[in-house]
Amino acid sequence: MATSGGFHYTFEELGEGIHAAIARPEGHSICNSGVVDLGEAALVFDTGLTPDSARYLRFGAERAVGRPPSVIVNSHWHLDHSLGNHTFSGVPIWGTRRTREILLEKQDELTSELAREELERVIRELEGRRDEMRSEGARADLEFILHINRSLLAASGRLKITPPDRTFVNRLSLPGARGAQLLSFGSGHTEADALLFLPHERVLFAGDLVVVGVQPSMGSGDPDHWLTVLRKIERLGPERILPGHGPVTNLEGMDEVRGYVSGVLEAADSPSGSPLPVALRRWEGSLSLEENLTFARGWRSKHPTPDASH
Ligand SMILES: [Zn+2]
Repeated sequence: MATSGGFHYTFEELGEGIHAAIARPEGHSICNSGVVDLGEAALVFDTGLTPDSARYLRFGAERAVGRPPSVIVNSHWHLDHSLGNHTFSGVPIWGTRRTREILLEKQDELTSELAREELERVIRELEGRRDEMRSEGARADLEFILHINRSLLAASGRLKITPPDRTFVNRLSLPGARGAQLLSFGSGHTEADALLFLPHERVLFAGDLVVVGVQPSMGSGDPDHWLTVLRKIERLGPERILPGHGPVTNLEGMDEVRGYVSGVLEAADSPSGSPLPVALRRWEGSLSLEENLTFARGWRSKHPTPDASH
């Protein structure tokens, strides 16, 4: 199955008609995608960053399930999950109502960030910062951000923000015997993340609510409520979880994200200079951790007393 995703993905079968398209580190998709045969339709969950990777995703999905994708789902608005939408033109794209609203609100701003001259400027700036970094972890972080920007530059002129054109709020049952459900438990990684749950096979496509081996990004949502969302995911009882980034995992992988998010919040609550909580030690040394801590301190100053049920 590794051949159908080309340079950008490695396909992995999670069950009959259920496939993970795992982003390859050198590829341009950046995020993972999922593919499900719904019976009369083929669903693709998240479309990756660039038209080049999205073309391979479309081809790989068709090869995996024997029919071209006819339903797209975006887990959230971040461009590494939604910028590939344009390549699936004519195919209905589902997302939460808030995901559509955010992409519409940000359309002009994001479009100017995707202009060739702007990407070239950002790349020059990132290269300068990388060369000044002493820490290996921070350099690796900057290399990854550079890789994202270079992937965008390689596709500049062909990039178009395409928000979902079909929306739901909390739950949507998809047609077909599989009983696939689109769910949103509200704000977490972003303001309204969508999940796909396959109840018979107990497979969950989690978007960036669950990531493996990379820092979860906390700056676009509600970190207190993220913990509530993870508890709700646990109650679904998924046996296999496709994360937004990294290899296929399970509830143990989800627990690591929970430990990370609660660890960052705990650190934000502590006086500055306190040692980082145990859950963060393995994540130390990265720029994303610094960004998440800064965000969480700002968040805590505005949301000082999280609900006791969180
Ligand atoms: Zn994201």
